[in-house]
Formats: sequence, structure tokens, C-alpha cells
Amino acid sequence: MTAAGRREGAGRGERVGRRSKGRERMKILKIDHIGIAAKSIDQVAPFWNEILGLPIEGRQTVEEQKATTAFLPVGESELEILESTASDGAIAKFIESRGEGIQHIALRVDNLEAALRELKEKGVRLIDEKPRTGAGGAKIAFIHPKSTNGVLLELSER
Ligand code: ZN
Repeated sequence: MTAAGRREGAGRGERVGRRSKGRERMKILKIDHIGIAAKSIDQVAPFWNEILGLPIEGRQTVEEQKATTAFLPVGESELEILESTASDGAIAKFIESRGEGIQHIALRVDNLEAALRELKEKGVRLIDEKPRTGAGGAKIAFIHPKSTNGVLLELSER
């Protein structure tokens, strides 16, 4: 779109209306965590925990995601190691087709509902149109890799 087109678009009643409701552009606050798929947390823990010296803070099974997760804080962000609890879970399927390794990247947003609304309006394909509850009680939602050049992107708010 040209600059002129953008200006015209911004002048339409609909947009002005939206702005007057005080809606702002989504804010990405930081990389919340990087999700790493593993066949077994116990098997990979010695590398991350003992060799790299990263603490493992809490292990939690999220039934809805058919996965057990372990979080390892790294500065402002975390690593999330995910192990499947069922052969038909997303992590098991991921490992089956692509092997172990980085499975998703999670960005923290200030307002997940608003971010999802905005992305939907912009034509981004969402896996979750509404937030669901992830590990640690965070509100999370996934964006489809078709819209992110192959990166499974999670948005989280906590
Ligand atoms: Zn995650």
C-alpha cells in the first residue's frame, strides 16, 4: 500500500472509530521462552542442568497439551523443555516428523485477547482464537506456522 493509500485508509470512519475506543497496537514485551521438544526430560536434563548449570524450576504436566514441561530460567527469558505424555500429542507428533529440538518460540504480550483480535483482523492464521491456560497458569495462544514462515509462535501473557 502506498503512503497516500494508508493515509486514506486511516481516514475511514471505521478506523477512526476503533482508535477512539482507545485500542492500541499490540505490544511484544520480550521473548518469554523457547520451547524445546524432548523424548524425555530426564534424558536431556543433565546437559541443560548439570553441564550448562541452568536451574530447572518446576515441572508440570499440562493435560490439555498432552505434555510435561520443565522451565529453566535464563536471564529475562526461559527455556521450556517439553516431553509428550501421549503418542498423539503435539510434541510426540513434532518429534516423529522433525526430531527433537526447538519446537516453538513464545513472545510475551501485554494483552493477549487484544493481540489475538488484532492478528485476526490482519488476516493472520491462528491456532487458538481464544487464550487457553498454559504451564504456570499463563494465558497462551498459538499462531499457525503458515502465517509465520514456519515458526510455531506462541503468545503468552502472565
Ligand atoms: Zn511454550
